[in-house]
Amino acid sequence: MNSVPTWNRCVKKMPFEPKLQSTLTCPHCGHAKLETMPTDACQWYYECSACHTLLKPETGDCCVFCSYGSVPCPSVQVQQQQQQQ
Ligand SMILES: [Zn+2]
Repeated sequence: MNSVPTWNRCVKKMPFEPKLQSTLTCPHCGHAKLETMPTDACQWYYECSACHTLLKPETGDCCVFCSYGSVPCPSVQVQQQQQQQ
């Protein structure tokens, strides 16, 4: 029986385990919420649960987690890790 969890198939071979939880802070009202990041796609839009502002990434950022999150998205974490080596 194959017991590999389904999400493993989506994740490319990574040299380390990226953090998948990031605290998004709304730039409009300051509301912070812990969100789980998808590993197979970048999240471009995020609606603040407090003021319902639709957040979009700042110029040069690939997703809302890179702009407003405490942790950048998994693909950026991998790039940063590779640059440090
Ligand atoms: Zn807000």
